[in-house]
Amino acid sequence: MKKIDILSIPIADTTKKEFVNTVTKQNGQVWIVTANPEIIMLAKELPSYEKLLHTADYVVADGIGVVIGSKMLGQPLKERIPGFELVHEFMAVANATGTRNRIFMYGGKPGIAAKAAEMAKAQYPNIEIVGVADGYGRDGNGDEVASKAAAISPDYVFVALGAPKQEEWIATHLEKFPNSILMGVGGSLDILSG
Ligand code: UDP
Repeated sequence: MKKIDILSIPIADTTKKEFVNTVTKQNGQVWIVTANPEIIMLAKELPSYEKLLHTADYVVADGIGVVIGSKMLGQPLKERIPGFELVHEFMAVANATGTRNRIFMYGGKPGIAAKAAEMAKAQYPNIEIVGVADGYGRDGNGDEVASKAAAISPDYVFVALGAPKQEEWIATHLEKFPNSILMGVGGSLDILSG
């Protein structure tokens, strides 16, 4: 997939449809970062975070600001790809195919992931929510959640801890998830939970 550098961050130049199609046909681990302007600015301030963005398999343009920025730089990206919409698209594909449909939801205040899971299951009955965990547990840096989730080997791990925490958690525990699609989803579980 073609990538366009925006302030040295390689952003996938694709449409939402093409991206979902590519990722859902891919085998093994996929790490997706949905970069809004805040994430790109954070990467510029925090070199360790920028490094993580270079490690991810795909960084997509979440936020019209990134698409506008790309136009101003003379390398227009095809389309905005919001993380929240990707969460829905992936669940819709899992629901339709009944395969790669095992989902783990991590993050948000106590009860949010569980409620988001309930709402998701109501909308996409053929998905399986294989685990949930809130983002404020005693388990400060999420090691226990990582072990618990890894033991389940989910098809999707949606991580709602905000940036940079969610990407740091994914990077730290990446090798425990050789068969998962991992994605930092910011406030998406809050929205999904209603
Ligand atoms: N969050 C969390 N644990 C933390 C910090 C944040 O679970 O230690 C959750 C927070 O409850 C929210 C999500 O992370 O559901 C996204 O937070 P924020 O809105 O700050 O991130 P953004 O969407 O702006 O990246």
